[in-house]
Amino acid sequence: MRAVIVGAGLAGLAALRLRQAGWQVVLCDNARDLGGKMSRWCARGYRFDTGPTLLTMPQILRRLYQDIGERLEDHLQLEALDPHAVYLYPDGRRIEVPAKFEAWLETVRRIAPEDVEGVRQLHAVGERIYRLSEITFFLRDPLIPLRAPPAAALRLLPIRHAWGNYANTVARFLKSPHLRQIYNRYPTYVGSSPFQTPATLLVIPYIEHTFGAWYPIGGMYRITESLGELAARRGVEILTQTRITAILHRGGRVEGVRADSGGRIEADAVVFNGDAASLSELLGEKEPFDPVGRSLSGVVLLYGLRRSPAALYHHTVLFSSDYEQEFRELFEHRFFPSEPTVYVNAPPDAGPPGGGQAVYLMANAPGAGEASWFETHADEARRRVLKRVEGAGLGNFEQDTEVFDTWSPVRFEQRYLSPGGSIYGWNSHGWRRAFLRPPNRHPGYRGLYCAGGSFHPGGGVPMVLLSAEIAVRQMLEDSKP
Ligand SMILES: Cc1cc2nc3c(=O)[nH]c(=O)nc-3n(C[C@H](O)[C@H](O)[C@H](O)COP(=O)(O)OP(=O)(O)OC[C@H]3O[C@@H](n4cnc5c(N)ncnc54)[C@H](O)[C@@H]3O)c2cc1C
Repeated sequence: MRAVIVGAGLAGLAALRLRQAGWQVVLCDNARDLGGKMSRWCARGYRFDTGPTLLTMPQILRRLYQDIGERLEDHLQLEALDPHAVYLYPDGRRIEVPAKFEAWLETVRRIAPEDVEGVRQLHAVGERIYRLSEITFFLRDPLIPLRAPPAAALRLLPIRHAWGNYANTVARFLKSPHLRQIYNRYPTYVGSSPFQTPATLLVIPYIEHTFGAWYPIGGMYRITESLGELAARRGVEILTQTRITAILHRGGRVEGVRADSGGRIEADAVVFNGDAASLSELLGEKEPFDPVGRSLSGVVLLYGLRRSPAALYHHTVLFSSDYEQEFRELFEHRFFPSEPTVYVNAPPDAGPPGGGQAVYLMANAPGAGEASWFETHADEARRRVLKRVEGAGLGNFEQDTEVFDTWSPVRFEQRYLSPGGSIYGWNSHGWRRAFLRPPNRHPGYRGLYCAGGSFHPGGGVPMVLLSAEIAVRQMLEDSKP
């Protein structure tokens, strides 16, 4: 059997499982490098991850290595982060979130004793959602027709407080505006607004406190490197700088793909690892682009600094003073926030040997494409980000810059072929979008499977790995004689 994988993002690389099952695999990507968003930039001894910086649920990555007969530890060295993050507020407040939930409760007892019970309750809601997801959502497409959910899932379904609005639920349980802002940040992990997502996303803080926040020594790109090496060693045919322009089909069955060179690659199955919004065009059924449902994009500024800013932790978040306004600007007005929240990533091992610090700054931006973002905005966005950085006491980055690069929504769109520059495909606003993402087995074409952040179960490294796991499982089931 032969499969073509369109896109060598994390999900595309995870199709190594197919090779393990004896399939011939051809992996195509429009770019020069593998890994899609899990990429890297190096200059003058500084090393930057340009996409993800935080690994959660490492057990899912470990399972991928196991399934292909390897041990994660032989390829990657994962470091547990404690605290997970440091939050700095415009009023000068500083809150550290420790790794263990019990330690977090101790912190809350010290800074906002009236919220201890609320934090416990939010964790309990998250835990029940996680347990429900484990036996349903994480295993297969939701609501696969004609299949009853397992009895255990039905018992877990009536979760009080899980189906309302996320931010309202947080506000019901917590009084401290500082703690509310910490909890309200988690839906941004899937490119969405806490004010529009369902409270089921409380599963995200639960997951982080239960399974930890991790850093692969050498950067997240080490994951791409290791999977890319394994793919090459095991005979996956890798075609970089190969953009697929059509998925070929006849009588409702896929037959292969056509590349931008004009060449045709025949296959028994195709796995699409690009953005769900561009799939219909590849199938010859162009649908109009709808910016309303898109997840967030971002502005990423990469600074190689001669001197490390004082007391900069691995993950630091510089909050804005009005989170609700920030999300209104992002999703309703669709422009870069007047006062952005800035995420600062400063891995300790990413500077040149003689000293210096690689710093990655990221702020959310609308995922609505060029219509709301022109390159001329980049300078203004950078000015607003640096103002927040300076305001938080981290100094003037521009004075100490040795190397610099920047990513805008337009660059995301062009490099990753993701309409609007959205990082996670569709946003998770409303119950339907959060839970009924496009399925991993395409309902319209036999032999067509989909994996990646814009398909079920969603974006972010662990979910993307799960999407590939589900797609491959379905392919192997379907190909049984
Ligand atoms: C700035 C940023 C920060 C992030 N931070 C985190 C984080 O801290 N933690 C976390 O878990 N996640 C994070 N994410 C999200 C995470 O990186 C993604 O969800 C995940 O890497 C997506 O993997 P994927 O398999 O969906 O493929 P993608 O990375 O989307 O790659 C798909 C590849 O397919 C290629 N492609 C598409 N169409 C075609 C075609 N027609 N022909 C050929 N090639 C094609 C694309 O160019 C791309 O190379 C972040 C992402 C970004 C951009």
